[in-house]
Amino acid sequence: MPKISVVVVVEEENKYSISVLLGYLLKRLREEKLDNYFRFILTNWVNVSEVLSSLNRPHILIASLLTTQIPSLYSRVQSVLEVSRRLGGISAAGGPHATGDPYGTILNLGFDLAFIGEAEENFAEFVIELTQGGNPLSVSGVATISEGGVKVSYSNKQRLLSLDPVPPFCRELGLFNPIEIMRGCPHACRYCQVSYLFGTFPRFRSTENVVSFAKELLTRGIRDIRFVSPSGFEYMCSKNLNLSALSSLLETLNREVRSLGGRVYLGTFPSEVRPEHVTEETLRTVKAYVDNKKLNIGAQTGSERLLKLLHREHGADDVLNAVAIANKHGFKVDVDYMFGLPWEDSQDLEITMKQIERVIQLGGRIHCHTFIPLPGTPLSFASPRAIPETVKSKLVKLMGRGKLWGQWLWQERLARDIVLLRENNVIVINYKRASEVATKKSELVKRRFDVFYNNLRKIMSLNIETT
Ligand code: SF4
Repeated sequence: MPKISVVVVVEEENKYSISVLLGYLLKRLREEKLDNYFRFILTNWVNVSEVLSSLNRPHILIASLLTTQIPSLYSRVQSVLEVSRRLGGISAAGGPHATGDPYGTILNLGFDLAFIGEAEENFAEFVIELTQGGNPLSVSGVATISEGGVKVSYSNKQRLLSLDPVPPFCRELGLFNPIEIMRGCPHACRYCQVSYLFGTFPRFRSTENVVSFAKELLTRGIRDIRFVSPSGFEYMCSKNLNLSALSSLLETLNREVRSLGGRVYLGTFPSEVRPEHVTEETLRTVKAYVDNKKLNIGAQTGSERLLKLLHREHGADDVLNAVAIANKHGFKVDVDYMFGLPWEDSQDLEITMKQIERVIQLGGRIHCHTFIPLPGTPLSFASPRAIPETVKSKLVKLMGRGKLWGQWLWQERLARDIVLLRENNVIVINYKRASEVATKKSELVKRRFDVFYNNLRKIMSLNIETT
C-alpha cells in the first residue's frame, strides 16, 4: 500500500516539542485507524533536501521553529521548501517562531502553513481531514497562504485542559524525552514566549499519568526521570504553590519509580524554578525525593526596577534568599541572569553585578544570557542594549574562574542578527506589513498559492487511491 510520507525535521533545540507532536498525532491516527497510511521519516535541516529528492513524491514536510534558529537557517529553509514544493510537497511549521510570526513564516520563509500556539490537536485534525478527503484548511489555529496573501485562523480557546491526553514522548518513533508536567505559565515575563505561546492558564499532567510514563521510561532502560515545566515547583497551582500536590507527586514517584532504580530530577533543566518558590518549606518537601543536588533558579537581573519592567513578579531579595536556603538544604545553585535588557542602565548593571558577586560568594554559579527580542512577546520590537565593555570584561573573568557559563557572547551576536532580520521585514512582520509584502509580490504569492493547492490535492488523491 503506498503511504503518505511525513518528513519531520528534528534538531536538538526542538526535539522535545516534535516528539510530543508526533506522539499525539500517532495516537490520534491509531484511534482513527489511519496510521497505516503514513510513514514518518526523521531528518535534520542539513539532510532534508537529499531525503526529499530521494523520495521524489508528494509528502508533508513539518518543522518546529525557534527564532534563534532563523538567522543561520533562513536561506537553507527557503531552498529546502523550494525543493519540497517542486516534488509536490506541502510544508508546515509550528513552535514559538511560527506562532509569534505566522506572516513572516509563510511569506518570507516560505512555509505553506504555520500552526499557531499548541499545535498537537490542530495538526492532528489537519492530517485527519487531509486523509479523509475533508477540508484540511478548515482547522483552527493555522495560518495559510491564500491568493491575497496570508489567511490566519486563530483559535482562542486553550483546548487541552489537562496534559493527560498528550503522550509526553513518541515511543513509536523511538523519541524519548523528559515528561512534560506543566504547560502555560501564569507569570508572563515580557521577554519570554512561554505565556504567549501556551497561555497564562497552566495545565498539568496528573500524578497517575506522570508515574505511568515514568515507569515506561524505566522499562526502556531510561533511569533518569526528568520533567519539562516552565516553573518546576508550581505543580497543580498558579503562582501560589500547592505543596500537597507537589509532595504527593514526588512521594508517588519515590514509591513507584525510585524504588525500582529510577532517579528523579526536579528543579533543574528543563524544570527550572522561580526564586520565590525556593523556601524552607518547599525544599523540605522536595529534598528527600529528588536525586538532583543542584537547582536552576531564574533571576535575570538584580535590579528591582528592571524586575518590575520585565514583569518578573518577584523581588531582588528573593534571589539571595533562595540561594541561602538552597545552600542550607545541600543544593548547589545555578542562577540565570540576562544582560542587554531593554531599559537596562549603568545603575541596573551595577546592582546586578553586586548581586552576582554575592551569589558567587554564597557558592552559586551564574548562567549568563543576552536578551533576544522574540516574536510574539511584548518585547518583540525592543532592541538589545549594548553590554558595556567593563561589564563584559568582568563576565569574561568570571568565566575564566569557572563561576559563570552560558552562550551570552553568541547570543549577543544572534540578537543583533535577529534585529537586522526584523528591520528588513524578514521576520516579525505584522498584518499591515504582510499585506504590503503580499501586494508587492502578488504574482509570486498567487503562483505559490496555486502550487500549494495543487500539491494539497495531489496528497489527498494519493490517499484516496490507497483507501
Ligand atoms: S516564569 Fe519563566 S517560563 Fe514563566 S514567563 Fe517567566 S521566564 Fe517564562
